[in-house]
Amino acid sequence: MTDQSPAIRPLVAGNWKMNGLKAALDEALAVRDALAGGTDNGTDVMICPPASLLMVLAELTRDSAGLQIGGQDCHTAASGAHTGDVSAEMLKDAGASAVIVGHSERRADHGELDRLVRDKALAARRAGLTAIVCIGETAGQRAAGLTLDVVRRQLLGSVPDGATAADTVIAYEPVWAIGTGLTPTLEDVASVHGAIREALATRFGGEGASMRILYGGSVKPDNARELMAVANVDGALVGGASLKADDFLRIIQAYGA
Ligand code: PEP
Repeated sequence: MTDQSPAIRPLVAGNWKMNGLKAALDEALAVRDALAGGTDNGTDVMICPPASLLMVLAELTRDSAGLQIGGQDCHTAASGAHTGDVSAEMLKDAGASAVIVGHSERRADHGELDRLVRDKALAARRAGLTAIVCIGETAGQRAAGLTLDVVRRQLLGSVPDGATAADTVIAYEPVWAIGTGLTPTLEDVASVHGAIREALATRFGGEGASMRILYGGSVKPDNARELMAVANVDGALVGGASLKADDFLRIIQAYGA
């Protein structure tokens, strides 16, 4: 394993999914307070709460130098007759700086395909949000030896033309590793992240070479340091372990000073 790409500022983003009532804000505020004045290790930190908590959390962290707020999904349109949906513009207006698109749970639960994910990433760009574009293979695809094919296809289909390192973050999340406690070997992570970097650099040149590639899937305090040290791993997308401030802060600290 080699060091992470030196010029790329890492991002650790917490995805709370459909978890968190108002009382959970205390966990986010503990993160905010621990990061007051910014992280001491040059890491960007974000929490993506459920939509019900986003605006209040954004207000509570507005003056925080260390904690950003993101959405978990957005519609492709800016507004209109789409009951239950939220637009990228609404997330921006509520105080978000980013939005996750194409999470495997949305691909599975809502049948989202690459083209829709790409259009959501374009909506994020239109609204001035960074799109965190999720890709990753299922257990069956991995067993069939299709991991790199799947990841390359999803990258091509889900990331819009003209993507830049400022408006796009890639999150590689093997579906079978999400919420299971399972993780790929460090060699496998290095191989997939290397292939993603190559594809991004080929398609987007310098922007692709400096685009952040997060690893996601059962990142915990006790495995974060080794995962983050893998080449081309520029941070983490963290689900379950982001719900408790102590665990999330220990993952952030995995980057060292
Ligand atoms: C996720 O949902 O993006 C995720 C990585 O979940 P977990 O960390 O719980 O595996």
